[in-house]
Amino acid sequence: MSRGTLFIVAAPSGAGKTSLVKALVDSCPQILVSVSHTTRAARPGEREGVDYHFVTADQFQSMADRGAFLEHAEVFGNRYGTSQQWVEERLQAGEDVILEIDWQGGAQVRRLMPDAVSVFILPPSRETLEQRLQGRGQDDASVIAGRMAEAVSEMTHYVEFDYLVVNDCFETALGDLRSIIIARRLRLQVQREKHQQLLTQLLS
Ligand code: GDP
Ligand code: ADP
Ligand code: 5GP
Repeated sequence: MSRGTLFIVAAPSGAGKTSLVKALVDSCPQILVSVSHTTRAARPGEREGVDYHFVTADQFQSMADRGAFLEHAEVFGNRYGTSQQWVEERLQAGEDVILEIDWQGGAQVRRLMPDAVSVFILPPSRETLEQRLQGRGQDDASVIAGRMAEAVSEMTHYVEFDYLVVNDCFETALGDLRSIIIARRLRLQVQREKHQQLLTQLLS
């Protein structure tokens, strides 16, 4: 079985990455999202183990000390990290894995796993980004102001990514994201391993 592909998806907060990735995973087989660990408090409706693994600062630090994270970073004053073991097991099982992480985490993963495919999602305008953060209705005004202030510096990192998707029309952006996943799966190296028997039959 061939090893799965690791996808990195980053965006400024509110650009729509969580909604897009959820819609993608719900409609696309054999692709899973890594559930990050975070020290941030759960938002109303967020579930332990589904949206995040919510941990204390001490728990997070002890995981970091024992090398449990593939990458970790501080974003908006909270710490976020990706479980190394979970990601490795899923890739080895041939599944594709998506990491919804910030640009700092993206840079760490790219160094460790140069084969990872990275996608940056942009909002169609600054005004729309702010409206989406407000419309989500889950962060208070000071948190939204902080995230807007960080958005421009986050977006300057778009150049480090392989693909750029603008999330204006949701369905169009979802189609773009799906195309990136599918194109990766159709690469010669991947298809050659998957269809070994067919190729042998056709060419014998
Ligand atoms: P949202 O993206 O606005 O819904 O806000 P979140 O609180 O869910 O995420 C905050 C930031 O942390 C975003 O930039 C995420 O991409 C980033 N993030 C989430 N999980 C991870 C992770 O495991 N590692 C890293 N490095 N960043 C993460
Ligand atoms: P992120 O995970 O990047 O912070 P979310 O997925 O939480 O962003 O999206 C932020 C808000 O914007 C949510 O309320 C979501 O429903 C909304 N949203 C996402 N994409 C679109 C879109 N293309 N058009 C309109 N609203 C959108
Ligand atoms: P939120 O707190 O709104 O869920 O997420 C804020 C930011 O943290 C988002 O930009 C998100 O991508 C990032 N983030 C979430 N999980 C991780 C993670 O595991 N690692 C890193 N580096 N960033 C993360």
